[in-house]
Amino acid sequence: MSLNKLSIDDINVKGKRVLVRCDFNVPLKDGKITDENRLVAALPTIKKLIADGGKVILCSHLGKPKGEPKPELSLAPVAARLSELLGQEVKFAPDNEVVGPNARAAVAAMQDGDVVLLENTRYRAEETKNGEAFSKDLASLCDIFVNDAFGTAHRAHCSNVGVASLVDTAAVGYLMQKEIDFLGNAVENPVRPFVAILGGAKVADKLNVISNLLEKCDTLIIGGGMAFTFLKAQGKEVGKSLVDDEKLDYCREMIAKAEKLGKQLLLPVDTVCSTSFPSPIDAEIPVVNVSVDEMPADQMGLDIGTETAKLYADAVKSAKTVVWNGPMGVFENPILAKGTIAVAKALAETDATTIIGGGDSAAAVNQLGFGDKMTHISTGGGASLEFLEGKELPGVAAANDK
Ligand code: ATP
Repeated sequence: MSLNKLSIDDINVKGKRVLVRCDFNVPLKDGKITDENRLVAALPTIKKLIADGGKVILCSHLGKPKGEPKPELSLAPVAARLSELLGQEVKFAPDNEVVGPNARAAVAAMQDGDVVLLENTRYRAEETKNGEAFSKDLASLCDIFVNDAFGTAHRAHCSNVGVASLVDTAAVGYLMQKEIDFLGNAVENPVRPFVAILGGAKVADKLNVISNLLEKCDTLIIGGGMAFTFLKAQGKEVGKSLVDDEKLDYCREMIAKAEKLGKQLLLPVDTVCSTSFPSPIDAEIPVVNVSVDEMPADQMGLDIGTETAKLYADAVKSAKTVVWNGPMGVFENPILAKGTIAVAKALAETDATTIIGGGDSAAAVNQLGFGDKMTHISTGGGASLEFLEGKELPGVAAANDK
């Protein structure tokens, strides 16, 4: 997959109509935006296009209107807040068909540096099916297309893939560029040693990630619930721990694959366990730290143990690139968050390039207060996992190469 994509620094947008696919999928409560991080994150690309004299037409999806206009999922509040953040009017074009009379009139009236926002792209049923009619409608509004929505890059929709194939110039914005530079290059072209850390609940959720990262990295570290299927596959007693019994053979294959490729595969040597899963999740529960060779049958492993945390932190210290997806234990509980904190701390303290896959992992790192110590925290859960699987992302592939 080519990761050398045409960026907004490479194109001349002066006087041109530029359609920008943003990620304005913000949480709303009673018509008010409750977290505007995504709007703030989009500003550098928008400001650059304004400064260069483009006619900037923004579009995005919001929630799941399932192909019908839903007033509570209108992008109108986003237009209002973006106007304030940008310090200039963002004219909202409220067409139920997204590209309708309001959008056409608003675009026709644009001066260089003006900004228009279209209605929620998922008001159109074709959007998520990459239907031709809507892609053509979008393409008819613009001369240039810019994709800056990484969160949907693993999907082929009209507003990120269909429209890109119908315009002469399809580039990526700064947010997309950053994700490609960090996630894509870390996996495809890492500075070595490259240490990958995988955790989270189940092996089954990350089969392709485990297999692909084993090929790409020097050391693969496994923690979280998924470690117990590996330990059981090695013939160890894992008590009542989370296990995917159908994936025992798969784990044995991965252990053999690591050996064959000469890669280091690190599994827990000890674990923090309790007799049951905490309920509620943050309940204070009694725990014991035991070797993985001495796990009592009535216990379940809920975090990596202290020796394992040291082992993993040491492996991180020797790395030049670290990619991390999935917590080391039930981090929602303070007693069981220590392994995840130890690994987060090791990442925070290293000079290596540190990259956090989106979703729960990003939430854990931010919640534990290490967010600003990481080189890059991906904004796309599903999209970042597919990057780690080595898959070509349709939203990235659709942009022109440099
Ligand atoms: P995303 O793909 O969104 O980034 P993730 O990969 O970070 O998510 P998941 O696979 O969804 O993570 O798993 C995270 C969940 O795994 C957490 O809620 C955590 O409590 C749970 N978990 C971690 N370790 C264990 C364990 N030993 N036993 C049971 N559950 C665990």
